[in-house]
Amino acid sequence: MPRKSKYTRSEIMDHRKQARHRHYRKVKLTIFEYYGKFCACCGESRVEFLTIDHINGGGKSHRKQLKTRGGYGFYTWLMNHGFPDGYRTLCFNCNLSLGAYGYCPHGNVSRGAGQVLEPKEPELPLFVFKGGF
Ligand SMILES: [Zn+2]
Ligand SMILES: [Zn+2]
Repeated sequence: MPRKSKYTRSEIMDHRKQARHRHYRKVKLTIFEYYGKFCACCGESRVEFLTIDHINGGGKSHRKQLKTRGGYGFYTWLMNHGFPDGYRTLCFNCNLSLGAYGYCPHGNVSRGAGQVLEPKEPELPLFVFKGGF
């Protein structure tokens, strides 16, 4: 048994950080298990790159409403609400491009007016988001 004093404060903080990262990763994996384990646009499947996209936009105001800047708070919200419709998995690149330009240069996804292109994989959940944030 190591003595408590063996660890510096920063080592303890590091340990907590790691535990939080592990938990965060687990939450993300649960989310992508439901919404799709790869980017609906480019097929990126490394979880570090993946994020959840509001199919018809509005993510910013929704996150404001949730008082979270995305990430963990948003993912736990999705889990607590039983994985609501209107979201899909995108990688950061495709998500950012959609947010900034309204399209992705890959040309596989688009945004707005309820228009959603065919997903690459038939088992990907595809929903037209009818509400509005
Ligand atoms: Zn992508
Ligand atoms: Zn793309």
